[in-house]
Amino acid sequence: MYAPAGVKTNHNEFPIPDTQRAWVLGEPGELSITNKPVPVPKKAEVLVRIDAVAICATDLEIIYHGPPASIQGGLPFNKNFTPGHEYMGTVVALGAGVDEYNIGQRVAVEIHAGCGQCKRCREGMYTSCHNYGLNYGDVDKGHRANGFTTDGGFCEYQVNNINTLVSLQNDMSDEEGTLVVTAGTAMYALTELGGLVAGESVCVTGPGPIGLMAVAVAKALGAQPVILTGTRDNRLKIGLELGADHVVNIRKTPDVVAEVKKLNGGKGVDYVVECSAATSAVNDAVRMVNRGGRVCLAAFAHEEVPVDVAHIVRNNIYIYGIRGEGKSATHRAEAYMRQKRFDATKIHTHTFPLEELPTAIRYAKDRVEDAIKVVVKAKMGAAQKEAAE
Ligand SMILES: [Zn+2]
Ligand SMILES: [Zn+2]
Repeated sequence: MYAPAGVKTNHNEFPIPDTQRAWVLGEPGELSITNKPVPVPKKAEVLVRIDAVAICATDLEIIYHGPPASIQGGLPFNKNFTPGHEYMGTVVALGAGVDEYNIGQRVAVEIHAGCGQCKRCREGMYTSCHNYGLNYGDVDKGHRANGFTTDGGFCEYQVNNINTLVSLQNDMSDEEGTLVVTAGTAMYALTELGGLVAGESVCVTGPGPIGLMAVAVAKALGAQPVILTGTRDNRLKIGLELGADHVVNIRKTPDVVAEVKKLNGGKGVDYVVECSAATSAVNDAVRMVNRGGRVCLAAFAHEEVPVDVAHIVRNNIYIYGIRGEGKSATHRAEAYMRQKRFDATKIHTHTFPLEELPTAIRYAKDRVEDAIKVVVKAKMGAAQKEAAE
């Protein structure tokens, strides 16, 4: 029985085993399920029973290529590393001194705990912690980024710092709970662009999960018009349901920049949130904004991209890069979701049991059956299991 010294548990209601099922990464693209000890929360940490974890494009990057994961200063392969970072669950054990959360509280979990002591962490930019990945041996700065620099969520239990937790209401489903961090990333993008977007025009490029959440959050913040560009009609349709005023299928529109301007009354938009990672996206974005406009880059491009610097300088355009979900943006996103200001579940398409993670990854990677957000759950009800099959 799991009973580490100094850790509060409630075995009657939330029994905790000593070991758990956990997926680990071997060679690139190679996952296997194994048994791992259930980790022990330290000071300011809790043990979270993972009730649902969503698969993110960045998980696929890590599983097949490695970065941006960094395990013991290097690539994450063959290090008994468990990926997965978009999870929610239930607090089942409290580390020393924790009274901010109770056992039984449902929570979404932010990815980045940061070291809490560097310049950026002190500014609330913990996703840009200067001690990223330093959590081992002589360079243990206490940094954690679930599924990037420490074990993540493709398992049953994980420890998390209390500063990464977002309380969830019981009327929010597990699947929706996994999307709090996705919406939080979109919220962080809009925060960095200035935050006050009511009445401002916003174009979101790329209707992936973050792009679709950027549409929803921008609309909830009062932006108008909100324009979404992309290549897949089924995703653009979801964008309309989440609040986009206009959508543009760039496959059917030869000059997307002209079209966005046309939809905005002939002028460039105030803000672009770039979520497509397309090679042409940055130059398109800086041409879609008006003079003095702002562009936030939220997608990891796969190659170096040539950029029209003269256009950016001549037009006083601001460009921001964001990493993840900084400045407590997840709390603001959760508030909108709690108030039902948008229905994030529209981007959830599939659920699989934890044992079927490789199938779930295939669905996410190959977009089988138009998959967008694919979730895995360690404990699935029989009815849910059937629905997923
Ligand atoms: Zn992610
Ligand atoms: Zn830090």
